Amino acid sequence: MDNLLSKIEAQLPPEVVGLLRTAGEMAQREGQRLYLVGGVVRDLLLGRPNLDLDLVVQGDAPRLARLLAKASGEKPVVHSQFGTGKFRHGSLSIDVATARSETYPRPGALPVVTPATIEDDLLRRDFTINAMAIDLGVASFGQLLDPCGGRSDLEQRLIRILHDGSFVDDATRILRALRYEQRLRFRLEERTEKLLCQHATMLDTISGDRIRHELELNLMEDHPERVLRRAVELGVLQAIHPSLRGNGWLAQRFQHARQLGPPDPALYLLLLVYHLGDDDLEEVALRLNVSGQVRRSMRQVQRLRQALDALTEPDLPRSGIHRLLKAYSPAAVTACALACDSPVTRSRLMLYLDELRHVKPCLDGDDLKRLGLQPGPPLGRMLQALLRAKLDGKVSSRKEEEALVRQRLRHN
Ligand code: ATP
Repeated sequence: MDNLLSKIEAQLPPEVVGLLRTAGEMAQREGQRLYLVGGVVRDLLLGRPNLDLDLVVQGDAPRLARLLAKASGEKPVVHSQFGTGKFRHGSLSIDVATARSETYPRPGALPVVTPATIEDDLLRRDFTINAMAIDLGVASFGQLLDPCGGRSDLEQRLIRILHDGSFVDDATRILRALRYEQRLRFRLEERTEKLLCQHATMLDTISGDRIRHELELNLMEDHPERVLRRAVELGVLQAIHPSLRGNGWLAQRFQHARQLGPPDPALYLLLLVYHLGDDDLEEVALRLNVSGQVRRSMRQVQRLRQALDALTEPDLPRSGIHRLLKAYSPAAVTACALACDSPVTRSRLMLYLDELRHVKPCLDGDDLKRLGLQPGPPLGRMLQALLRAKLDGKVSSRKEEEALVRQRLRHN
């Protein structure tokens, strides 16, 4: 059996190794067997940094989480009904779960769970590369459990499901498969790919919240456009909604989005739905059960997209750009700036985002009252006039604003 002790010691910080050893000892004293599982094992073998520690115990996870939290001087969060616990250790958050097996009463349903051995727990997982565990027992610390051939698939750079019904049981695995494939630059194993295409329609069995969650995780990857392109190639995006596309246009926009700042899944989502018509947009929003705020942003993008022509007018003053865009959220303006084809329109949208939307007159309502205006619509109009003048460079100081107010009052 493989022992990963040297990899563990080389790749994990000493305090994490210490924590794992202590946890293993503690579990052993309780007569329980403890394992490190899932993504961190995969990434240890790949040499990729990962401190997302998931522990599985053949025994009582809530009790062990309480003991480990106490030893770290922290409070655990325990869900006895699910047989899980979580505790913090410095900046780390560690999950402990009771080893379990799962059966799916029908496709897409949440699984029925029963306590089981570590082997059963690994057999319920999504892909071979995620179905490995490291023994944390005192004498066996570092030993790899690999019942499904995960290590060999890592070496061959393959994403492989554990049984033919895997995507039917839980079609979220379809989106997970594409995520790992593109993140790790692996390939779907041949049969896995065939079954994934065949069962893409099983995504219909998954609730909007779960689909959206997986899609958002995919959009949080370093290169989400690769995942979407692959999703189109395999008919997955179309299975979520036939109007969705993940083509070269989208890839280019995603790359530009990253140049503007840290990757933002919400912005990617707005770009993904940029070209959709009214009905498709509403259907996608409903299918993904997006929040009211996201739905409003999606509708704003669509409205602004249809109003972009007004921004190409040759002599449009800065105040005109402001007037056309002020009703839209920065997210909607950013999405349109990234998506539109006209350089003039794009530079005006960016001007609004970077500069114009932050411009405020020096004078406020109180100042205007001191200058003799009564509260009410004329005061609001005066503030607008001041803003326009400032945007267009006609006033650039408090003094000049006061002079403008006095001049307008004289003319009224
Ligand atoms: P990441 O690096 O993306 O966080 P991860 O492997 O840690 O990857 P999680 O989503 O945190 O992924 O899940 C932890 C583990 O739980 C996975 O490695 C996998 O073994 C298992 N798992 C998660 N989701 C599923 C699923 N839908 N079906 C089966 N097993 C799953």
